[in-house]
Amino acid sequence: MTDNTFIDGFLAACLAGMITGVGGLGIFLKKRYLKSQINQLLNIAAGVMLAASFFSLLVPSMNEIVRHGNDIYVSAFKYALAVFGGVVLIWTLNVLIPHEHNEMGHHGPHFDIKKAWLFVIAITLHKLPEGLAVGVAYGAETIINPISLVIGIAAHNIPEGLTIAISLMAAGTKRWKAAFTAFLIGLVQPLGALLGLGLMNFGYGFIPYGMALAGGTLLFVVINEILPETYGTKDNNKSAAAVFVGFIIMTYLTMVFKD
Ligand SMILES: [Zn+2]
Repeated sequence: MTDNTFIDGFLAACLAGMITGVGGLGIFLKKRYLKSQINQLLNIAAGVMLAASFFSLLVPSMNEIVRHGNDIYVSAFKYALAVFGGVVLIWTLNVLIPHEHNEMGHHGPHFDIKKAWLFVIAITLHKLPEGLAVGVAYGAETIINPISLVIGIAAHNIPEGLTIAISLMAAGTKRWKAAFTAFLIGLVQPLGALLGLGLMNFGYGFIPYGMALAGGTLLFVVINEILPETYGTKDNNKSAAAVFVGFIIMTYLTMVFKD
């Protein structure tokens, strides 16, 4: 990997991460957001992330591993193992670090500051694998164009930043402080990117496995962190529609930025 790739990847993750702060500024735009509005935005974000993990990481890595492998059974096994490794990695992190999902299956308002923070920690935690994915994508620049993944992650940071700020505000944190905290939490992504870029320095042979691993972590984030929080049981159809909107937008973006 060249120095330029490293710097590009880090800067891209910084920019994407800072968009979380832009989302946080949303609390200055409107006095109140409905829980359902926030959930729909996060559902769109989940769709974006689903498409991003498949099209920008999992599928290209699969193709690359098959192209370089001699035995399809061995290649497929190694690929599956790498995806599973990503899931296990982030799952372990999730178990080790205390955080909270709202029992109702919905985001806030959390009026208890401790609860609000435990929820914010959950979002902070999952920003690490997202940043890692950006770093990995840049490290795999020879195989994929990382731009669509970066755009997808940046876009999904907007509703997440807003959620962080709203949860903290509902727990009594001052408006500007809540918005600033959202900005700071966004900076976890460039940290993750450093990890991802470091990982990809292991040499060319490791790159497709790094992508598979990052794809696994992103999938875990969507399936275990975002969807269970937002997928309303009452508004199943609306939630599904929002997820598909995100998925289709990201599919379009992936094709447009393919080369
Ligand atoms: Zn996220």
